[in-house]
Amino acid sequence: MLTVDLHSHSTHSDGLLTPAELVARAHAQGVTLYALTDHDALSGVEEARLQAQACGMRFVAGVEISVSWQDEILHIVGLNIDPRHADLAGGLHAIRAGREARAVRIAADLERAGVEGALAGARRHARNPDLVSRAHFARHLVECGLAKDTNAAFRRYLTPGKPGHVAHQWASLSQAVNWINAAGGAAVIAHPGRYKLNNRNNEALLGEFRDLGGAGVEVVTGSHTAAQYASWARYAQRFGLAASAGSDFHGPEESYLDLGCLPDLPHGVQPLWSAF
Ligand code: AMP
Ligand code: MN
Ligand code: MN
Ligand code: MN
Repeated sequence: MLTVDLHSHSTHSDGLLTPAELVARAHAQGVTLYALTDHDALSGVEEARLQAQACGMRFVAGVEISVSWQDEILHIVGLNIDPRHADLAGGLHAIRAGREARAVRIAADLERAGVEGALAGARRHARNPDLVSRAHFARHLVECGLAKDTNAAFRRYLTPGKPGHVAHQWASLSQAVNWINAAGGAAVIAHPGRYKLNNRNNEALLGEFRDLGGAGVEVVTGSHTAAQYASWARYAQRFGLAASAGSDFHGPEESYLDLGCLPDLPHGVQPLWSAF
């Protein structure tokens, strides 16, 4: 039997485990088909691939690309990509440069709100110096006693309308899909139920994504309720998109779902991984 988990994060982005630790944990959890999907970074893929080989587990190289679409930030997962492809690698390099500039602005905003030294603090938590995430700021704010956990840190500081939130332009949807397709991969809309879009916007997004060459929708994810599994399965079927599944695991203390602890896809959808 196949136990699939196609969405998780290591220390190369905002996860708490190294790629090798993550893969070992996935294997121990019974996962048989696994993808590492760090935010905007591919540097963990080779370590994960080697560890998966050692465990005898099927491994898929992946990435989760940050995208600006209309007024939303979307995450587009690329699965089964060639991590050496120049278009993809170059696009991600540019996104990481944008993250660096954003981190400086976030820290300045926090400083105006009386939080000093946030940039150095976030950098201490970022084990990949090339990728500073809001999650690293959140961990620093918790460490300083300014929030009781990372969720509270996001609520009080890092979300729209709060000090420490700055507007930022990510990649476009067409760039993300094109880079993933150029690298031989399949583009998937991550945790679609998390975006603040109404039905009409969801339909606009799915239509545009499919027309750009998108392949699938993450139907089963730690971010969805059981009702959302069903409704996103219907959206996928209506738009001729395949269905993916992933825990979005970031670490033992920070994640709602552990690796591999996912229900089966709803009946009637096309599993994205049957193409791998
Ligand atoms: P960034 O890509 O740097 O804007 O950071 C986004 C990341 O922060 C997400 O991938 C999550 O891992 C984390 N995150 C976002 N919202 C929350 C929240 N409310 N509580 C905890 N972590 C969050
Ligand atoms: Mn994350
Ligand atoms: Mn995401
Ligand atoms: Mn994720």
